[in-house]
Amino acid sequence: MYLVSACLLGLKTRFDGTKLAPSGAMAMPLEKLVPVCPEQLGGLSTPRLPAEIQGGQGEDVLKGAALVLNTAGENVTESFLQGAREILYLACLYQVKGAFLKDGSPSCGSCYTYDGTFSGRRCPGTGVTAALLRENGIPIFNETKLFPRYPDFKK
Ligand code: SF4
Repeated sequence: MYLVSACLLGLKTRFDGTKLAPSGAMAMPLEKLVPVCPEQLGGLSTPRLPAEIQGGQGEDVLKGAALVLNTAGENVTESFLQGAREILYLACLYQVKGAFLKDGSPSCGSCYTYDGTFSGRRCPGTGVTAALLRENGIPIFNETKLFPRYPDFKK
């Protein structure tokens, strides 16, 4: 089994409540996927204000050295941490082999996030959930590695 960001399967879980364009996830064997949205599991509503990590990356948020703030300046760090913990619980429950996560998200990003200025500038790094999964030895991949390009998927 693998976790997959719910938005990659067309669920309207994104902060603005919109649906992503169809992705490669739709061609994956659905019986092997557990769709998850850490921000919803952290108790945030949909739609919700955009949020970005301030002063670091997901790993820093886990250490208490960075915050997640939304565009209203509200501290939503605890919701992001709660969502990450719920995803890790599911990862353990299902004994997943990995997680396919939507890149760029302050939760799910695995290669990049945004720099905290809400100006659309990317920076290399991981979101809070991605960082927690990685810390616990769970391989994470972004949407460019979706089946069938991930050769280990059938194992
Ligand atoms: Fe939810 Fe992650 Fe998709 Fe954002 S990127 S909507 S947190 S599943």
